[in-house]
Amino acid sequence: MRYVPRQPQDGINVSKTHPLVEAGTLVVGLTAIFATIALALIFLIELALYFIPAEKEAALFSNWLPEDIITVSPHDERLTQIQVLVDRLAFHWGDSPYEFRVEIDDSNVANAMALPGGLIIVTRGLLDQVESENELAFVLGHELGHYRNRDHIRALGRGVVLGLFFAVATGGDVANIGISVADLALRGFSRKQELAADEFGLAIVYTHYGHVNEAWRLFERWDDGDDSLLALISYMSTHPQSGDRIEDLEALAIREGWPRDGEVTPLRW
Ligand SMILES: [Zn+2]
Repeated sequence: MRYVPRQPQDGINVSKTHPLVEAGTLVVGLTAIFATIALALIFLIELALYFIPAEKEAALFSNWLPEDIITVSPHDERLTQIQVLVDRLAFHWGDSPYEFRVEIDDSNVANAMALPGGLIIVTRGLLDQVESENELAFVLGHELGHYRNRDHIRALGRGVVLGLFFAVATGGDVANIGISVADLALRGFSRKQELAADEFGLAIVYTHYGHVNEAWRLFERWDDGDDSLLALISYMSTHPQSGDRIEDLEALAIREGWPRDGEVTPLRW
C-alpha cells in the first residue's frame, strides 16, 4: 500500500480545554505540590523529634559550640555562678534528659538562647542588666521550658535537621553540620511556645524560691526604659514584648496562687 503523506490538521497542538480552565488546573496543581512539600517539611521536624530523642541529642552535641560565639574566660566568676544556678533550677525538672552547659557570649547585646544539646547561651549584655538572681533565674527557667518542649529543635532550619539525620545515620560528627547562632537566633518561637516556656520557667522559679517576686522585674525595666536601650536588647526580638508578657506572668502567678512577695536573692558576683 502506498503511503500518502498528509498535512496534520490545524490546531492539533491546541488543547480542547478552555485556557482559563487549564490555568486553573495548573494553579491548583502547583498549590497542592507546594502544600505537600510544606507538610513534608513539617513532618520532617516531627520525625527528627521522634528519631532523635533528647538523650541522643544531648550526646550528639555534648562538646559542641557554635562557630560564631565568642566566649568569656572559663575562669569568669559569672560563668561558675550561672552554671550553679542552672543546675539548681534544673534539679526541679527531675527527669530532664539534658546536662545543661552554660556559656557567656561576650556581646553587649542582651539575649539568652536554648541551643541543641542543653547548651544555654547568655550574653554579657544580659548579665550587665540583671539586678538580682531572681531575675536571672526566670530568664534561665524560661530557656529550660524551651528544652522541655523541645522548641529549640523545632526552630532549627530544615537543612540542619537533615544534617542531624545524616549525623545520626552515619555516626558522624555534628561539628560538620555547621550550625551557627546567626542561623538560629533569627527564628523566633511562636507566642504559644513562648507562653508555655514562661509557665514552665515561672513554675521552676516558684518551686526554687517559694515565691515569684522580681522574677519579671527585668522586663518591667525594659518596658519603662527609653527606646535607645532597645537596640541593645535582641532578647525582645526573639521573645514576647515586655508589656504583654508582664501581664501574662502576673495573671499566671495569681491563678496559681504563687506569692508575689518574698526575699530577693542578690547576684553572687
Ligand atoms: Zn523564649
